[in-house]
Amino acid sequence: MASHKGLRVAVVGAGIGGSATAHFVRSGDLGVDIAELVVFERGQRAGGRLDVVQVDDAGYEAGGSIIHGKNAYMVEFAKMLRLTRQSTPDNELGLFDGQQMFLKTSPWTLVTFARMLWRYGLDIFRLNKYTGALLEKFAKIYELQNNGKGFATPRELVAAMDADFPALLSRTLRENLKQEGFSERFIEELAMGIVHVNYGQTPAMPAFVGSVALAGSGAELWSVKGGNRLVAEGLLEAARPDRLLFGHSVDAVRRTAAGQYELEVRNLDASQDGVEGPFDLVFLACPAISNSREAQILFQGVPAPVLKPYQRTVATFVPGKMAPLGEPEGADAPGMVLVTSPSYFVNSIGSYGPVEAEKKVSEQVHKVFSKAILSSEGLESLFSELASDKVKICDWLAYPAYEEGEFNGTDGFSLDPDGHLYHVNRIEDVASAMEMSCIGAKNCVLLASSRLLPRAKL
Ligand SMILES: Cc1cc2nc3c(=O)[nH]c(=O)nc-3n(C[C@H](O)[C@H](O)[C@H](O)COP(=O)(O)OP(=O)(O)OC[C@H]3O[C@@H](n4cnc5c(N)ncnc54)[C@H](O)[C@@H]3O)c2cc1C
Repeated sequence: MASHKGLRVAVVGAGIGGSATAHFVRSGDLGVDIAELVVFERGQRAGGRLDVVQVDDAGYEAGGSIIHGKNAYMVEFAKMLRLTRQSTPDNELGLFDGQQMFLKTSPWTLVTFARMLWRYGLDIFRLNKYTGALLEKFAKIYELQNNGKGFATPRELVAAMDADFPALLSRTLRENLKQEGFSERFIEELAMGIVHVNYGQTPAMPAFVGSVALAGSGAELWSVKGGNRLVAEGLLEAARPDRLLFGHSVDAVRRTAAGQYELEVRNLDASQDGVEGPFDLVFLACPAISNSREAQILFQGVPAPVLKPYQRTVATFVPGKMAPLGEPEGADAPGMVLVTSPSYFVNSIGSYGPVEAEKKVSEQVHKVFSKAILSSEGLESLFSELASDKVKICDWLAYPAYEEGEFNGTDGFSLDPDGHLYHVNRIEDVASAMEMSCIGAKNCVLLASSRLLPRAKL
């Protein structure tokens, strides 16, 4: 148990969730002294699903790329770390059903508005109202966490934001939008295109995460100059861990007779195994994935977190010129193509700027999301000009496969009865995004504080 000198704390994973956990621990949110803070990260740097890929002469966001202006933790962290926020450029949008580009926005706002109104009628206003209300209710979590409130399950956490939110975990986005009065056309076209680009899934996903995707398609979108992973790196540096072990994989978590935890750690660089600990508190800030053996940790003397399927998303970076998809020869391709057919071989194609927005690039780079690696024939059918030797591929298990697993938010953050072992990424059961991992991190630290503080004071 904790000595009078303070707690020994371990964080497993240095993505945005693990880095935020280390930051909250060091900032005093546990309310007790810390004797040692150790961070274990399997990779060679912080970031996890936040990464930058070098394509030709510039770097591009390879994983998590867009942050909403109302994501209070990400906004606060960028400010605290003196990082520069750059707005995401407003791309012209095209909706493509695999055969036809049936809707395109225009550089002229009024023309776009008229086209949208013509196709979707009042649903355009309804969408603003729907996402506005969602964001307002969502913001309640910041007030609750500021007041030190931790929640046992993701379901309880969303219920505290709004009493109606738990229902959104068991209803599909399609059902919910119908209930809110949206037309079938809007749901199967615009909503489908948005959840497809954001999560590689369809409106059959739960309404809560689907609505988060819809809210994330609105205004006020930004990213960090130099790459979003700078937030994870900066938080970790600011947390000053006593030991920060990159290239170290935690392979097993073992509960001791005294209720502490030992970690079996493999040094990937030296192919050496060792036992670290015992720790009074362990925060697992990595997903528990059922369809990846590599992601699985062995649990001894304590129940393992429930494993969930994750969705494969391949991001292919292509310098070149897009072909006019489903349009006459010579038509200008829109900057962002949302694909509304789930069986089409890609989810979306977008032209993106580099992580240093002002950097001049020799060729426009497109990011293509798909569910599998694209064949060269597939790529050639999408691009009229293509520098195939410069193409880069990032193959991710990107987010939970919400349509496949049980995602009702009832599995707890705490893995043991006395509150020494927490799973930050349980938050992804309700929605997966950078901000969600920060909320999960804060929640686990507050939960640990509420359970340990009374004992630590004895
Ligand atoms: C292609 C793509 C696009 C996305 N777009 C967006 C977006 O636009 N906006 C948005 O908000 N979110 C987006 N996301 C989601 C977002 O990136 C993630 O939700 C978020 O980065 C998850 O952070 P995390 O720290 O919780 O998990 P991770 O980033 O997965 O971090 C977990 C870390 O733990 C390490 N680890 C795992 N197992 C072990 C072990 N046993 N021992 C030691 N270390 C271990 C891993 O190496 C990793 O660094 C996107 C994700 C992808 C892949």
